[in-house]
Amino acid sequence: MEKIKMTTPLVEMDGDEMTRILWKMIKDELILPFVELRTEYYDLGLEKRDATEDRITVEAAEATRKYGVAVKCATITPNAARMSEYNLHQMWKSPNGTIRSLLDGTVFRTPITIPSISPAVKSWKKPITIARHAYGDVYKNVEIRAAGAGVAKLVFEGADGDRQEVVVHEFKGSGVLQGMHNTDRSITSFAHSCFKFAIDTKQDVWFSTKDTISKKYDARFREIFDEVFEQYRSDFERLGLEYFYTLIDDAVARVIRSEGGFIWACKNYDGDVMSDMVSTAFGSLAMMTSVLVSPDGKYEYEAAHGTVTRHYYKHLKGEETSTNSMATIFAWTGALRKRGELDGLPELVRFACQLEDACFDTLNEGIVTKDLVSLMHGVEPRAVNSREFLLEIRKRLEKRLGA
Ligand code: NAP
Ligand code: MG
Repeated sequence: MEKIKMTTPLVEMDGDEMTRILWKMIKDELILPFVELRTEYYDLGLEKRDATEDRITVEAAEATRKYGVAVKCATITPNAARMSEYNLHQMWKSPNGTIRSLLDGTVFRTPITIPSISPAVKSWKKPITIARHAYGDVYKNVEIRAAGAGVAKLVFEGADGDRQEVVVHEFKGSGVLQGMHNTDRSITSFAHSCFKFAIDTKQDVWFSTKDTISKKYDARFREIFDEVFEQYRSDFERLGLEYFYTLIDDAVARVIRSEGGFIWACKNYDGDVMSDMVSTAFGSLAMMTSVLVSPDGKYEYEAAHGTVTRHYYKHLKGEETSTNSMATIFAWTGALRKRGELDGLPELVRFACQLEDACFDTLNEGIVTKDLVSLMHGVEPRAVNSREFLLEIRKRLEKRLGA
């Protein structure tokens, strides 16, 4: 079989620990034999980030801006323990945080679903994608603990001399208070990313806040979404898609009763909480994909899980591991498919679909990694190790490709 050609390189961001091991195996077994892979490679492994004072992460994000599509392996976000383990010069920031702020993007998380793993919510038939606004609100708050009686005020001093002041509360005794903010710019980017991704994946967008209570703050989110939507309305109509806004509590009730198959755009805190609920209800963290979409349509695909440290240390001791590579494979297929769509390469798009189908064939026949065994029903699961799992997928991929 002749290998599939690419015209534009993917931005490839390598990572750490067990996912770095899987990364190479996935390329060697499932991609390089079939695709004349072109990538611009950035090693975001912790050693390289430390050696370059984290410039490599910034360069990788800049390359993503230039080429438009990236695929990223999970990476360690250093903490105190990692500082000594890797003898780091600094506690470098989370690469995902750095890339997200440079691309000004929104993260969309979608579970990979299969018939033999039923979601905890019976009515859910299709995946639910959570879009979490990743800027501001309580995550950039300021707080005060009031020791006793006093007045708390919210004051805005405009650069143009405009001044606004409101009393938050007149404390009779001790208490707590908090100030939060968001910016029109960030909310607007969030809205663009959501509508772009909806058109891309042909799904409705649900957006929820609490604007009946928060008549200025949450109301601003709703207004901006309504305004931005006008730029996408005709595309939505052409594709038969819907954008609808509802209160967060109503959204929660509707989501539970729904069949799934839509994008749920959430404010920062709601998204934090709801994404954990939705991902747990769908089964396994190892089956959760993630894509960062910038408001100007740049894409970075990855798995939602981390570097699976516990498995890596087993691997280093020479013990067998059974680590699920599904989400990392789907990061690759997502990126290859998007590259194929942008470059007009139907062969590449077809390959990405066939690789995903080969993954589904494998799981549907009950060949799984250990994490899925207890979740399966209707087929007798057979647990295999990390490498065997990929080889089983390869066999089925070759069959599908007629190779
Ligand atoms: P994790 O790597 O997601 O793993 C937590 C546990 O979940 C694992 O020990 C394993 O459970 C299970 N698991 C996760 N992915 C799996 C897979 N593909 N196959 C099978 N089981 C899987 O989270 P963590 O241990 O909290 O974090 C490890 C490192 O990853 C940290 O340094 C963190 O900074 C980093 N991290 C990176 C990203 C990212 O780059 N996007 C995201 C999150 C965390 P069992 O041990 O029970 O088998
Ligand atoms: Mg959380």
